[in-house]
Amino acid sequence: DQPIRIAIAGHGNLGRGVEAALAKNPDMQLVGLYTRRAPERITPLQAGTPVYAMGALHGHTDQIDVLILCGGSKTDLPQQGPALAALFNTVDSFDTHACIPEYFAAVDAPARAHGKTALISAGWDPGMFSVQRVMGEALLPDGATYTFWGKGLSQGHSDAIRRISGVAAGVQYTIPVPEAVEQVRSGTRPVLSTRQKHRRECFVVLQTGADPGTVRRAIVTMPHYFDEYDTQVHFITHEELRRDHSAMPHGGFVIRSGNTTPENGQVIEYGLTLDSNPEFTASVLVAYARAVYRLHQQGQYGAKTVLDVAPGLLSPHSPEHLRAHAL
Ligand code: NAP
Repeated sequence: DQPIRIAIAGHGNLGRGVEAALAKNPDMQLVGLYTRRAPERITPLQAGTPVYAMGALHGHTDQIDVLILCGGSKTDLPQQGPALAALFNTVDSFDTHACIPEYFAAVDAPARAHGKTALISAGWDPGMFSVQRVMGEALLPDGATYTFWGKGLSQGHSDAIRRISGVAAGVQYTIPVPEAVEQVRSGTRPVLSTRQKHRRECFVVLQTGADPGTVRRAIVTMPHYFDEYDTQVHFITHEELRRDHSAMPHGGFVIRSGNTTPENGQVIEYGLTLDSNPEFTASVLVAYARAVYRLHQQGQYGAKTVLDVAPGLLSPHSPEHLRAHAL
């Protein structure tokens, strides 16, 4: 069998993660990296991987089986997703939850019109956590679903801190409250407020002359981002930030607890502990790229989500092999 020809559009954290993930999937081959920046400024993980300007994609439609979109959800994917789904089979990690229905429609129309398969919003949340939420509700209809995030670095909250005047640099970690997780695991179906489920911890480097008290107040009272949480703020140096906070860990749990009869409770738990959020997300995208390739071969065109894809399609193994060894 010829390897599945994969290309990457956008070379940030996720794009680098996809390069690393492809190295662990011998049935796939990286045929190119595409970027909006000058290609000579990009250093691929494997010397020898061709790097092209994004505009070259138009001429490469017959050289790529699946294009993995690694742009940001905020401004890149809303534009790149629909445009590229007209030309290629695609996989992306669009994660603005509230806009997923709108984004699905925007990608579905061009993909259908051009006979392409476009899987949106893969990754871990949305992604693997979404699958667990749907499974939990289906298997235990009389129950409650809880999602906890962390301990992990939140890009959005870190960006919010960095916009505060007086802040030179900073990161924010989201941390599940252990008592809340234990209550949920016990199967009592507690009603938990935002504050009871997660706390936030910030590590901030101040600009010269900035007042720590003023910066702390600006952070902990910031509407939507911090005001509904218990937030700790630590002031550190640039060196400490670089030394202790350069990794991008994340993770969390999806827990469904329910009852099959009044006397019998059942608890399902799915957990992730990730040293690198983008590298794990990229591993998920690569597995779904295999599924997209197969769905396209079956003539299943249009936008899809992780909820539409059977697990066997993600595996490099045949259905016969999976029945014999994994079922
Ligand atoms: P990122 O590093 O900011 O990269 C986004 C894009 O910015 C890249 O594709 C790249 O495009 C450009 N870029 C990267 N580094 C640059 C630099 N130094 N200078 C100028 N441009 C640069 O973002 P990311 O960490 O890869 O995350 C991408 C998206 O993944 C996030 O927006 C998030 O929505 C999503 N995500 C989803 C999940 C999930 O579970 N579903 C989990 C994690 C992340 P060009 O190469 O074209 O310039």
